[in-house]
Amino acid sequence: MKKSGKLIVLSGPSGVGKSTVVAKAMEARDDLCFSVSVTTRLPRPGETDGKDYFFISRERFDQMVENGELLEHATYVSNCYGTPRQYVKQQLENGMNVILDIEIQGARQVDEKMPEALKIFIAPPSMAELRRRLSARGTENSETVEKRINRARQELLEADFYDYLIVNDDLECAAQEFQAILTAEGCRFDPEYARHLAGESEICR
Ligand code: ADP
Ligand code: 5GP
Repeated sequence: MKKSGKLIVLSGPSGVGKSTVVAKAMEARDDLCFSVSVTTRLPRPGETDGKDYFFISRERFDQMVENGELLEHATYVSNCYGTPRQYVKQQLENGMNVILDIEIQGARQVDEKMPEALKIFIAPPSMAELRRRLSARGTENSETVEKRINRARQELLEADFYDYLIVNDDLECAAQEFQAILTAEGCRFDPEYARHLAGESEICR
């Protein structure tokens, strides 16, 4: 019997540095995989279909919702986003820890279905710094940047059901904190594993 992986929900305002922190953790560890979401948003320059997102039409998105193919889904600043259910299920069964980079409405849906999921919120040191990073990224016009800032404020006020809060001021520090949480969670006391160590269960890892 193989121990199943952990579902890791990572949220935080667009532009706060989630992808950067995840990329560093995936370089450092081999027990992590990233769930690629579907979205109706258009690709940004440099984004690849199947790697950053599966870019799909609104019709296909609605069909996936109807067929129950999504673990969770939400609308974020006029675009739809969702997590394909099958990949997550398979990877967890294979013992991999699966990272979902999703916004807060989706995180709430996951929390209801799988309360054991680890929920981590990444916040910017200030809204002014978030505005600076979003503008510097240069992928959104100023109106969309303001919509995303407003959404970020609202999310921070509603994020009290998360397990951990990381402030991404210094990137190296935030990346280390993220990996420290994963390491600590990997050592969480597991009664079934303890029974295995005592020779009374077949579980292995
Ligand atoms: P997200 O995935 O949350 O949308 P990104 O990882 O794409 O955010 O980061 C947005 C931008 O901010 C990128 O240009 C990234 O290099 C930059 N960035 C990330 N963390 C920091 C930090 N601690 N200090 C300064 N810039 C950062
Ligand atoms: P962006 O357009 O900047 O890539 O993402 C916008 C927001 O959508 C981010 O907060 C990101 O975490 C979130 N997001 C990305 N994929 C999903 C998903 O599958 N489900 C949900 N609920 N949110 C997602």
